[in-house]
Amino acid sequence: MPKIKNIKAYEVLDSRGNPTIYTMLELEDGTIGSAFVPSGASKGKYEALELRDNDKRYFGKGVRKAVENVNNIIAKALVGLNIESQREIDMKLIEIDGTENKSKIGANAILSVSLSFARAISNYYKIPLFKYIGGIRSYILPVPLMNVINGGVHADNKLDIQEFMIVPIGAKTFREAIEISAETFYSLKSILKEKGYSVNVGDEGGFAPNLSNTKEALDILMEAINRAGYVNKIKLALDVAANELYENGKYRMDGKNLGIDELLKFYENLIENYPIISIEDPFSEDDIEGWKLITKELSSKIQIVGDDLFTTNVKRIEMGIKENIANAVLIKLNQIGTLTETIFAVELAIRNNYKTIISHRSGETEDNFISDLAVGLNTGQIKTGSLSRSDRTSKYNRLLIIEEEYGGVYGGLYWNNFSTL
Ligand code: PGA
Ligand code: ZN
Repeated sequence: MPKIKNIKAYEVLDSRGNPTIYTMLELEDGTIGSAFVPSGASKGKYEALELRDNDKRYFGKGVRKAVENVNNIIAKALVGLNIESQREIDMKLIEIDGTENKSKIGANAILSVSLSFARAISNYYKIPLFKYIGGIRSYILPVPLMNVINGGVHADNKLDIQEFMIVPIGAKTFREAIEISAETFYSLKSILKEKGYSVNVGDEGGFAPNLSNTKEALDILMEAINRAGYVNKIKLALDVAANELYENGKYRMDGKNLGIDELLKFYENLIENYPIISIEDPFSEDDIEGWKLITKELSSKIQIVGDDLFTTNVKRIEMGIKENIANAVLIKLNQIGTLTETIFAVELAIRNNYKTIISHRSGETEDNFISDLAVGLNTGQIKTGSLSRSDRTSKYNRLLIIEEEYGGVYGGLYWNNFSTL
C-alpha cells in the first residue's frame, strides 16, 4: 500500500447552508479519496461530538477548528505512514483524539478522514467502494425508506411525527422500487395541491404541508399510494423522533400529553389502521420502560428501530440487547465517527438478530458514501429521504447505477429474513 502523501480539509456547506467539512486524502502514487460529512438536527445525546466553532461566523456553526484539526493534528500524525487497513487508520484516529465521544478532534473531522481513506483505497485497488467494504458478500440492494411527508423539527408545520415514509417492499428490483415510489410522490403532490396545501419541501426533500395531525398525514399518504396504484407494493414507516416530544415524563402527540401506555395505544391503533411496518424512536432515548413495553407488545408485528436510542454505538446496542429492546438499529456514520466502528455496530446488531438500516442525516451533501455502505454491509435497508433534492437523490442514483452495473438482489425479497443474512 502506498504511503499517505497528503490530507487536506476544507470548510464547505451542507444542504441546509450550514458549514461542514470536506477532506481529500492523497496516497503517494497520486490516488485520491475524498468525503463530505453530514449533520443532524434531531440528535441523540449519546452521539459523538460534532465540533463547531461557536464563534461569530455562521452563527457559531463554523467548522474551522475541525478543519484545522485535520490539517494540523491528523495530517501531521498520518502523512508519511504506510497504513495497511481501514481498521488501522480508524484505530489511530481514535487514539489521536483519546476521548470517549471524539470531543477533542471532533467526530466530523475524524469521520472525514476515515471515509476519504476508504475511498482512496477503493480507488487504489480500482474496485467500487461497496466492494472494498463488503467484498463478494455485498450483493443486496437496500429497500429505501423514503420520507415523503416531513414534520417535527424538520418542518415548520404542526405534525409531531418527524417522518412519514413510504417503503416499496413489494418491488422486484431497486429500479422498480424507485419508479413506483417516484410515481407515488407525484401523486402525493397532486393530492396536496388539490386540497390546497403547500407543496414546498422540508429538509429531507419531502413535502411539509400544514396538516394538523398524524391521521391526516397517513390518510393523504394512503390516498397517494392508491392513486398511483401500488397498494400491494408500498407500505409505510414512521420516525417519531420521540426525544423531541418528551417533556416531564409525557409525550406531546396531536395536541395531547400522553403517558407511555397511552402512547403505546396510539401506536397500536395506527398499525391496526394503516400498513405500517416500521416505527423508529417511538420513545425517547432514556425511556427504557417505554421501549420495553413497545418491544414486548409489537416486536413480532413490526420493525422497531432505535436511532437516538442507540446512536450507532456498540455500548448502547449492547445495552439494548441486554434489556431486550427494539429489533432494529439505525446506522449513521457521524453518530460514531469512523467507518470501522460503524461496521462493528452493524456486526453486533446482525449477530443478535437486529435488522440494520443505513441512514443519511437531515443535513446532507452531494456525497453518496452511504449507498455503497448499505450494499457493502448487506443491510437490506437504507433511509435517505424523499424523491427530490440532489442531496437525497444522489444516494438513490448511486444505487440505481450499482444495480445496473453489478446486479444484485433487491432487499424487499428478504424483508422478513434480513437477520439471517
Ligand atoms: P437528523 O434526523 O439527521 O436530523 O438527526 C434524522 C433522524 O432522526 O433519523
Ligand atoms: Zn431518527
